[in-house]
Amino acid sequence: MTEPGVNEPGVNDARTAELAANLAAVWLGIARACEKAGRDPASVTLVAVTKTWPADDVRRLAVLGVRDVAENRDQEASDKAQACSALGLRWHFVGQLQTNKVRSVARYADVVHAVDRERLIKALDRAAIDVGRQIRVLLQVSLEQGIAAPTRGGARPEEIADLADGVEAAPGLSLGGVMGVAPLGSDPDAAFARLHEVAEVLRAGHPGAMWISAGMSQDADQAIRHGATHVRIGSSLLGNRPPLR
Ligand SMILES: *Cc1c(COP(=O)(O)O)cnc(C)c1O
Repeated sequence: MTEPGVNEPGVNDARTAELAANLAAVWLGIARACEKAGRDPASVTLVAVTKTWPADDVRRLAVLGVRDVAENRDQEASDKAQACSALGLRWHFVGQLQTNKVRSVARYADVVHAVDRERLIKALDRAAIDVGRQIRVLLQVSLEQGIAAPTRGGARPEEIADLADGVEAAPGLSLGGVMGVAPLGSDPDAAFARLHEVAEVLRAGHPGAMWISAGMSQDADQAIRHGATHVRIGSSLLGNRPPLR
């Protein structure tokens, strides 16, 4: 992930200026959405989704004050986390995770967002214990209720309680809360309202499970309205990714 000839990106280069302007706009958007929702902006964490962008962009964002970064593919994430290990960032893995990748992900991920099955919980727990780390887990709730062909992963709301018990029983993991992705082509408001309900039920039994990871560039406002504590923002911060990703 290192570009030839670029070791330390200049804090004053054009890309840094572009990211600074985008970041200011994203923070302002979060602040406005919080104001409308009657929430404290400090209750929402910006997670910068840096997938497809180089490690130098991660460095630039770190210089600009971003502390949380997210990736969705293990190989790319692993390379970038290693290249940026001195920056003290919190690494979030937000993609669909296959059990054969957990050993790698456990080396760098602080938070894994899309956990939706018992087998994955067990594998992640073993991997975390092996590397001597504790990983925070968010249970992905499928928000595709009533949608004919679900594609975006996640457990059904009624499965969440059992999965939460599985995480609580895993010494290598801690239960952070829930995560959701609004279905394409439907109202994100309704989807995030459902996610909030599932989060409230979960919190009743697991007071530590306070996080709601919801909202991306296009629907962060609606997610904040429905209690998101972590918004995952890629394109409005870094620019449009090449198509196909
Ligand atoms: C890519 C991605 C995002 C960021 O999406 P943008 O629309 O670029 O903000 C958020 N969450 C997940 C799970 C992603 O894969």
